[in-house]
Amino acid sequence: MSLRLRLPLTYLLLIAALLAGMTAGVIPILHRYLRDDRAAPLQLQGTIIANDVRPLLGSSDLQGRVAEHGERLGTRVLVLSPTRRVLADSHGELVGQELSLKAATDALQGQSVVTERQSGADRALYVITPIGKNQATIGAVFISTTMTGVYQTLAELRQRIVWGSAGVALVAALASLWLAATITAPLASLTQAVERFDLSEQNRVPVHGDRELRTLAMTFNQVGERLHAEDEIRRRFITDVSHELRTPLAALKSVAETMLSTEDLDPALQQEFLRDIDHEVDRLAGLVKSLFELSQLDRRRELQLSQVDLGQLAARVAKNLHPLAQKREIDLKVEQEGPAILAMVDEQLLYRALFNLADNAIKFSPDGGRIWLRVRLAGANAQIAVTDEGPGIAADEHEQVFKRFYRVDASRARATGGSGLGLAMAREIAIAHRGEIILHSELGQGSTFTVIIPTNLNSLVIS
Ligand code: ADP
Repeated sequence: MSLRLRLPLTYLLLIAALLAGMTAGVIPILHRYLRDDRAAPLQLQGTIIANDVRPLLGSSDLQGRVAEHGERLGTRVLVLSPTRRVLADSHGELVGQELSLKAATDALQGQSVVTERQSGADRALYVITPIGKNQATIGAVFISTTMTGVYQTLAELRQRIVWGSAGVALVAALASLWLAATITAPLASLTQAVERFDLSEQNRVPVHGDRELRTLAMTFNQVGERLHAEDEIRRRFITDVSHELRTPLAALKSVAETMLSTEDLDPALQQEFLRDIDHEVDRLAGLVKSLFELSQLDRRRELQLSQVDLGQLAARVAKNLHPLAQKREIDLKVEQEGPAILAMVDEQLLYRALFNLADNAIKFSPDGGRIWLRVRLAGANAQIAVTDEGPGIAADEHEQVFKRFYRVDASRARATGGSGLGLAMAREIAIAHRGEIILHSELGQGSTFTVIIPTNLNSLVIS
């Protein structure tokens, strides 16, 4: 149900409930009050008449006196015998008849009774007062009057409550319609703005209206900005990837075309072309592998944490890279201070990060150079530093090298088969562990990449 309808309906229901409650609660109280108000003077009159007629019971003057009282009060007055026989009636009609009324029986037992009865089309109020003599009840005075006036007052009141409530309900319904409109109008304009929202553009929905609506619009804009930024990154990434793929593919195409167009290709040249093809295919395969690993890392998943001996992990990286280092007579050493350093890490991911750093160190080291993998504890953090004696990285490139596809010297990097993704991936892995990678390097002074991660992670989700 729409807010526009729900709000007025709620008010109407509330008012109807209030009306019912008021009618059910107030009307009976008022009824009792009005009845008692009417009965009280008659009870007094009953006592007066009882005292007055007591000596006349059994006398022929009784009827005349009762008729006088009836006239004086403007009501009907009866006098009953202890057997409920009518001894006198101000209207003269019921004399000699028996009054079969429970209230009369009660009154003849000595208690004053006030009761209401239906009398024809009318409601009647009976006030019955016992006539006592020497502790005994020798008769009763019966005064009857109409309740019509009381019921008219009550009906009038009920009508006023209904009309009053209807008026209030109308005002409330109009007010709630207006209120609902003030709430729904900005919501509708917000909805329209959201529908028009285009991720590719930096557009925002207007922030106005009440506080809750402003918060909603602001939150939406924040989410929109984040999505827009992510969309930008995704687009740039796709452009970069296609650019990266285009270069080796173009190289492959040109080699293939040359081979196809050259008849009687010299076997030596053919070998060289095939080596080029092999090299480019390797590069493509490397790029695709890196992209695959990156996409796995991008996919939001929980870190598979386990307790890992970081010294052993570094040693495993060194061992697996040993053949590569050995080819260029590079000395790859693992050093660790003190006892084993244990940390809760995703072993597979951290291995990948260290492998990328050490692999870079080899790639950029001079033949016969030295590389150190140093593992140490610094407070609650573990540090794994990869140091090489390579060309170093200028200070203004320190941030850039961690960006995806960034290479300091693209042509040389191509020669080394680099994709520009290794450092980006390593940094993402460190961040996923609530850690970081710090680079210390100067041109010509070698480089040190230090992975810093807390040792006591419990559980984490890569975001
Ligand atoms: P690549 O696959 O090209 O190595 P990376 O993301 O691992 O991609 O590195 C990005 C760039 O950072 C490299 O192309 C290189 O220019 C520079 N770089 C990375 N490691 C080193 C290092 N140990 N010494 C010098 N330059 C480095």
